[in-house]
Amino acid sequence: MIRNFLIYLSQAGWARRLVMALPFARRAARRFVAGDTVEAALYSVGQLNQAGLDATLDLLGEHTADEAAANEARLQIQQLLTRLSQSGLRSGISIKLTQIGLKLDEALCARNLKSILETASTHGLFVRIDMEESACVDATLRLYRGMRAEGFDNVGVVIQAMLYRSDADVMELLAEGARIRLVKGAYMEPPQVAYPHKADVDAAFDRLADLMLHESFAEIRRGANGDWPPVAAIATHDEARIRYVREHAELIGLPKSQFEFQMLYGIRSELQRQLVAEGYQVRVYVPFGQQWYPYFMRRLAERPANVWFLLSNLFKR
Ligand SMILES: Cc1cc2nc3c(=O)[nH]c(=O)nc-3n(C[C@H](O)[C@H](O)[C@H](O)COP(=O)(O)OP(=O)(O)OC[C@H]3O[C@@H](n4cnc5c(N)ncnc54)[C@H](O)[C@@H]3O)c2cc1C
Repeated sequence: MIRNFLIYLSQAGWARRLVMALPFARRAARRFVAGDTVEAALYSVGQLNQAGLDATLDLLGEHTADEAAANEARLQIQQLLTRLSQSGLRSGISIKLTQIGLKLDEALCARNLKSILETASTHGLFVRIDMEESACVDATLRLYRGMRAEGFDNVGVVIQAMLYRSDADVMELLAEGARIRLVKGAYMEPPQVAYPHKADVDAAFDRLADLMLHESFAEIRRGANGDWPPVAAIATHDEARIRYVREHAELIGLPKSQFEFQMLYGIRSELQRQLVAEGYQVRVYVPFGQQWYPYFMRRLAERPANVWFLLSNLFKR
């Protein structure tokens, strides 16, 4: 109930205007967002790299309203890639296709995505396409595949375990050599397309992780590992899911270097460091920028106890 209400608020314009004007909400959002500027974001990535963690930077923004804003977002992402390359830090980027025009015009989005991949490719950087609500999945996969067909290999996708379709998507994508980030799914979806119960989402997550780990193993045999992040990126803070993946990787003899765990900036930081100390690869998703509202609300929705954290900031100076 609360989760659905918070996800609804994340998409409501009136709530965005209201919450973004509250200084204590901005302060609370800083727990999950590395800052407003590229400088602040690169500083955070530097700190993570020093602690042995890799990163993926996300310039916040989604559901852009018009073509000019979509093109402006594309330009800012290209500038970010250039700055990232100059910094020498260990990080790729993550992008949302609705930020660069997916909901306005698929052809516009394709042009913007291609320009971003060209810039990333020039700098030897990897771009992960985040997955948004279920209505975007077909178009997102179509655009991803279009870019692969044009020869880009520095691009990966995200699959949401909560969607019924994901078993089929993962099998097809693995057969195509895709690099996949597996997540549970952060959006409110109807029972026609997604598992309503957490236990089913968890079971699907383990099942899909199995498929991805087996493919990672097959990739070693083919000697096709490449320069980019591993085929399997397991993105969760759920210790039971992490334990399952660790045990399964060990069972099939998959080296720790052949897959990675991913977590969000500001969430389970100790666990991130503990996994690194145990020799696992861990990548942290580092969002930054001024469009923090929907991202922040999704983080509240994942753990309604975070609402108390938000309110506790009301009393901080
Ligand atoms: C690197 C990364 C990239 C992602 N990219 C996408 C994407 O492209 N598309 C998409 O739909 N979703 C994405 N997500 C979000 C994902 O779908 C889940 O909503 C999110 O990860 C929470 O689920 P969980 O797997 O951590 O498990 P849960 O069962 O939700 O949480 C397990 C435990 O983790 C901790 N935890 C989880 N979330 C929070 C939080 N917000 N605050 C504090 N503690 C928390 C709690 O201790 C909780 O008990 C991404 C997640 C990660 C880690």
